[in-house]
Amino acid sequence: MIYFDHNSTTPIRPEVVDAMLPFLRDGYGNPNSAHTLGQKTRKAIEEAREKVARLIGAADASEIVFTSCGSEADVMAVYGAAQDAWHRSNGGSNHLVTTSIEHFAVTGACRELNARGFKTTTVDVDENAWVDCEAIKAALLPETVFVSVMAANNEVGTIQPIAEIAALCREKGIIFHTDAVQAVGKIPIDVQALGVDLLALSGHKINAPKGVGALYIRKGVRLSQLIAGKQEMNRRGGTENTASIVGLGVAVDLARREMQAHGAELERLRDRLETGALALDGVRKTANPVKRLPGTSHLCFRGVSGHQLVVGLDLDGYAVSSGPACHSGAVELSHVLKAMRLPEKWGRGALRVSLGWGSTEAGIDGFIASLGKLLGKLRESAKI
Ligand code: PLP
Repeated sequence: MIYFDHNSTTPIRPEVVDAMLPFLRDGYGNPNSAHTLGQKTRKAIEEAREKVARLIGAADASEIVFTSCGSEADVMAVYGAAQDAWHRSNGGSNHLVTTSIEHFAVTGACRELNARGFKTTTVDVDENAWVDCEAIKAALLPETVFVSVMAANNEVGTIQPIAEIAALCREKGIIFHTDAVQAVGKIPIDVQALGVDLLALSGHKINAPKGVGALYIRKGVRLSQLIAGKQEMNRRGGTENTASIVGLGVAVDLARREMQAHGAELERLRDRLETGALALDGVRKTANPVKRLPGTSHLCFRGVSGHQLVVGLDLDGYAVSSGPACHSGAVELSHVLKAMRLPEKWGRGALRVSLGWGSTEAGIDGFIASLGKLLGKLRESAKI
């Protein structure tokens, strides 16, 4: 199988597995225990924390809290900041701002807070899934406490003007969170240069295992606890997942060292893929953002459904993904494509090809050949 679905999840790198195995076998001590076994795992966790802090430019490792996934980090940021501000203002600060292309972890948490009396303004994006800082500014109210804008979109890869939005929020004393699950490890992220208060990341998008993530919490930012308990410096209850945290530490270190060269190579492969795909009949790029992730390509195909392409390519040995969900034969565009106001005739034939560690030129060339044949077959059988 040639894997081109890295925005969905990534393979675990052997270096990561090797570092994790001792903690799955003998390193089972509870990192909160005083004995030697516990202290060994504590040391390994703290080393991983240092590595995550280093990758994202945090001033201090204590600003990193490990979570069970990127979704939990997002929810912890949204609930934690909103609830804390609400309590401190006796319910006066109750307005949130987010965008129409966020991950469900963020939108779901905002929706739940709305049910508890908060109000949320959802800012629209343009046809390239780009968030305009002026639109965020226009959405702010005197009672706004929290703004959340993703760093890079998971479907089309658009990179957002995070530093600009963070500066705006800082000026107004509003907490700013960015969901950087798709950005960390793929493009340079420096939380201090960006000026963000909170940032979520996830292990399984960067060749670490599933079930581990982290939230960067800038020193001084207060969050209500989502899971009560004394672990993670009194910020998140739950015994730490030592092996996965160690794996995340190795993965972020590899990403830090390889990002520049690897990013350039992914860009080259992505451009090769797009040149090949766009030479086929009835194909367009879904968006043309000014800045986008190096390994993400999103294309639309006339007259076929994304689902047909995913299934056909799978039979040929290629794993890719289509944005639209298929419900009983009816195609519904994803919330991101809808927010971009992509016409349905194109959106139904949407395909996301996301490259990453292990992607090769030969893989791309084989994929284009398969895609060309499949398109011909599908269009022939539909008499298009
Ligand atoms: N945010 C974005 C942008 C994502 O793409 C994802 C995963 O697809 C998440 C959050 C959730 O991460 P996790 O799967 O670790 O919960």
